[in-house]
Amino acid sequence: MTKARYEGYCVDTPTRFVQERFDDINVYNQNAKSLLTKASGFISAYDFTLNPYRGCQYGCSYCYAAAFSPNSNMRKDWGKWVIIKENAAEILEKELKNWYAKNPNQYPKIYMSSVTDPYQPIESKHQLTRRLLEVMLDYYPTPTLVIQTRSPIITRDIDYLQRFQRLRINMSIPTGSELVRRDFEPRSPSIKARLNAIAKFKNSIEYLKGFIPKISITITPLLPTLPADETSFFDKLKIADRIVIQNFHPSQNRSLVASTRQETEEIKQKYPWWYEDEKLSYMQFKKKLIAQLPGIEIKEGKNGFGYD
Ligand code: SF4
Repeated sequence: MTKARYEGYCVDTPTRFVQERFDDINVYNQNAKSLLTKASGFISAYDFTLNPYRGCQYGCSYCYAAAFSPNSNMRKDWGKWVIIKENAAEILEKELKNWYAKNPNQYPKIYMSSVTDPYQPIESKHQLTRRLLEVMLDYYPTPTLVIQTRSPIITRDIDYLQRFQRLRINMSIPTGSELVRRDFEPRSPSIKARLNAIAKFKNSIEYLKGFIPKISITITPLLPTLPADETSFFDKLKIADRIVIQNFHPSQNRSLVASTRQETEEIKQKYPWWYEDEKLSYMQFKKKLIAQLPGIEIKEGKNGFGYD
């Protein structure tokens, strides 16, 4: 695995290295016509979704977003390409200006992101997401913002993030077992790196200078956690104020629909003790979560993805 500088391409905030492999992707620049997209489906509680990039270097095996690739070759190569929406900040500026002109004193509810990770490795170099935050912070009241990521790079932007009045961070951690993570999402940051990022986030918020963000851990889709890792995983989840669980996206056999991908179905075969009765595994996991995390919100599917 290539060692690369994961967090800290920002010269002014040098941080630490995390093992990451992202040197084999094709990067494209593109001007977007619009940036805020009307939200629907499991995030219909929002006004808009916002995706700074198209494609995602993490290339998780189960990612339903692969279905929205520009063509079937790119769909097959999910994880091997990223399109940078070069003019994203200018477009967002225009769109927010229009929104606030039409809806004075009413903040838009924005979900970032639905089909990419806004803090995938390339963000450490291009800082597109950071520029979008900057644009949003020019408006008052600031948009309600929910950020969905699995990347520790988010900690780079604590200075901006704590200025949002209504912010929720959804950190994706679909399993408590590194072995399982490496099978299903080998290019993504380690579980430890994600948990450390949340801890860093919580410890770095300057309570007198800003607002307190809400923190969710999204176990979506719920992947197996090995019995030996379960207790410590539950213990670590206590860092969040909400846990969200959800089953896999339903499988369908057509290639250009948002569904669990074939490669995931193959990886699942490695975990028969969990997948022989997936429904039962899910129910048992949920029961343990509820029993072991009193006082923490446990939500399922769509109900867990809202800000409130
Ligand atoms: S990080 Fe999210 S958007 Fe990126 S490949 Fe994984 S599931 Fe898909």
